Amino acid sequence: MIKIKSLEEIELMRESALIVSKTLGEIAKAIRPGITTLELDKLAEEFIRDHGATPGFLGLYDFPNTLCMSPNEQVVHGIPNKTPLKEGDIISVDCGALKNGFYGDHAFTFAVGEIDDDIKKLLKVTRESLYVGIRQFRAGNRVGDVGHAIQNYTEKHGYGVVRELVGHGLGREMHEDPEMPNYGRRGRGKKFAEGMVVAIEPMINLGTHRIKQYSDGWTIKTADKKASAHFEHDVAIINGKPQLLSTFAYINEALGIETNEEAEFSAS
Ligand code: MG
Ligand code: MG
Repeated sequence: MIKIKSLEEIELMRESALIVSKTLGEIAKAIRPGITTLELDKLAEEFIRDHGATPGFLGLYDFPNTLCMSPNEQVVHGIPNKTPLKEGDIISVDCGALKNGFYGDHAFTFAVGEIDDDIKKLLKVTRESLYVGIRQFRAGNRVGDVGHAIQNYTEKHGYGVVRELVGHGLGREMHEDPEMPNYGRRGRGKKFAEGMVVAIEPMINLGTHRIKQYSDGWTIKTADKKASAHFEHDVAIINGKPQLLSTFAYINEALGIETNEEAEFSAS
């Protein structure tokens, strides 16, 4: 059942989403060759708690950490560890926070130093596909419209769209209805309405869409061991249109990236 949120609830959700946005901004400042994903995890946990929130993933389905840290061929759900990041790696960082009874949940894939051009393009296209998907999240459209848009945008570059893992409704639960696949058919699936809040999160592979799970029971990696990217935003439907609750502004500021990609989805 899809749980519609009031404007008051959406403002609380914006608060939770912004804590995640700021946490990812701190991660952006700290990422460099030599740092471990476990060090970044500690930094994130402290930052979230200092802002009056609780890590959203820690303990959820028994996940052991604050961040999901998925380098290179890992897609999502990687567990932080003591292996230092190195020049040329990419690292997908997924973060959740719980405040006032509502979850924020979003993600960004970072480059560690200089990365290869084909990986750079994967990150760029996946990030763009997130907004292409968000544009379809409006009252009257359906789940398949978002999935179709993301799939169409990324597959034309020859990339693989992960099937088994999907975006989701967000609220008092981390995972609410509806499921939001990054593939699909136009006009199919549940209909969007005012007050819906979802996490849209393309997981896009440089090669095959097929994945495998590590024996740790968590980590998902690509079946061909090629790189995978993951970008995620929290989005509400207000006045019929998609409005971002999360932002990459803190990341952009830390990395010196100039973009107006969020402008059309901002509160005005
Ligand atoms: Mg997430
Ligand atoms: Mg999510």
